[in-house]
Amino acid sequence: MERESFKKNDIVTVTIEDIGNDGEGIGKADGYTLFVKDAVIGDMVEARITKCKKNYGYARVEKVVTPSPFRVNPRCAFHRQCGGCQIQAMQYERQLVYKQDKVRENLLRIGGFSPEKIDAVMEPIVGMEEPWHYRNKAQFPIGYDREGNLIAGFYAGRTHTIIANTDCLLGPVENKIILEAVLSYMRENRVSAYREAEGEGLVRHVLIRTGFYSGEIMVCLVINGKKLPAEKKLVERLSGLRFKEKRIASISVSVNTEKTNVIMGGEIRVLWGNGWIEDSLRVLNAADFGVAENAGSERAEREEKVTFRISPLSFYQVNPRQTERLYSLALEYAELTGKETVCDLYCGIGTISLFMAKRAGKVYGVEVILQAIEDARENARRNQITNAEFYVGKAEEVLPQLYQKEGIHPDVIVVDPPRKGCDEICLETMIAMRPKRIVYVSCDPATLARDLKILCQGGYEIRRVRAVDQFGHTGHVECACQLVRKRVNYREEEIEECGCIYG
Ligand code: SAH
Repeated sequence: MERESFKKNDIVTVTIEDIGNDGEGIGKADGYTLFVKDAVIGDMVEARITKCKKNYGYARVEKVVTPSPFRVNPRCAFHRQCGGCQIQAMQYERQLVYKQDKVRENLLRIGGFSPEKIDAVMEPIVGMEEPWHYRNKAQFPIGYDREGNLIAGFYAGRTHTIIANTDCLLGPVENKIILEAVLSYMRENRVSAYREAEGEGLVRHVLIRTGFYSGEIMVCLVINGKKLPAEKKLVERLSGLRFKEKRIASISVSVNTEKTNVIMGGEIRVLWGNGWIEDSLRVLNAADFGVAENAGSERAEREEKVTFRISPLSFYQVNPRQTERLYSLALEYAELTGKETVCDLYCGIGTISLFMAKRAGKVYGVEVILQAIEDARENARRNQITNAEFYVGKAEEVLPQLYQKEGIHPDVIVVDPPRKGCDEICLETMIAMRPKRIVYVSCDPATLARDLKILCQGGYEIRRVRAVDQFGHTGHVECACQLVRKRVNYREEEIEECGCIYG
């Protein structure tokens, strides 16, 4: 019997039974699967269908009929418009369960591992004690509201309409004060904001970056022109701001006169202070970061740290507290004793490489972006690390060279690829190099699962997996995984360990 089909704008009642890849609710209306934006698992909602496909459709919540026990009052009044926090209406503890399940499900479904295996190796997700004010970087668009008032805020989800809000709860509280100061400088000195449609007007974005440990703040105005009028007034206003534990250390402009969605321009001009800020990441003991345990304990504080110089254009992880937990976990999974040779692929500015270098014999970092490698080398110098060497190029091209031409035999290979995961040639080379351990740091459990399947077919076995929540209130999850090479052939192992069969 043919079921009556749904169409756009129909209102349906749905019970939300699952959570989708981006944190949306999933439920069925009359057997038809709907992905419902802003619905929380356990809710019964009235939803408006926004798009219909043959076997499934999309909808958004019109009215919550029966709220889920996991539904909370979102703290941010703009969360539905903004789209930055897809799951802010879900209780934080439930968010963590969702992320843990997401990693597990991907390993089962895409990786093809058995539930027994995964349950034996998976450790509990590392959540944040305070899932607010965790981001150290924000880029606020500047523009006008409908009445022509100057505003700073964010783009409404998937549009370029700016909604006025200087108080994003994911960033430091100082951002609001800094943005208000920039806006009042603009008003007093009749500085225009950029109007995207016409490509006219001056100030496009304000970038604010904060060193969570150093307390240093960087403010960079992205402008559609060479110069700001009354630059001195801006500098006076910003440098005069006083905060309890932080201070503005760098004020600059970035010139971007292109009609483009790319935020930053290439040319940076420093107006005041340094062209950079500094920040550090500490090496922690895993025992110090169980869920809601004693973060920042004295023991953790005493551990080593690595210091970084961050410029407006540098890449730097946005949640420093959770990054040091994730990278400390990667370090623990590497099981270094001081002698090992380590390859760190997709190394960025060398954060993981420098963590590893402190405990390894030699570290080789590989990264495709030249600027990041220059930062990595500078960071090694600043930290007096002399046993780390960095190569520019694609991992899938540089690794085969390190293997075949340079004859490098790493004991440990660490990878931290972007969402699309590792290239197949890279994975094959890793397998051919036969390191004792592989540490896979991932920001996408689906590609992680796909790559682990290949590595495990190539003779490796998963020993430990642990997710770390770097982006509370969003659907993203990161994790670290330890793989060890299986002892396939006893004689082969013996040759390797003793140098000869009779050794
Ligand atoms: N561990 C790094 C961040 C890794 S993000 C840090 O903490 O700084 C992933 C990195 O992989 C990015 O820096 C990106 O530029 C780089 N990348 C992307 N594709 C690559 C490839 N094919 N080979 C090498 N690096 C690549």
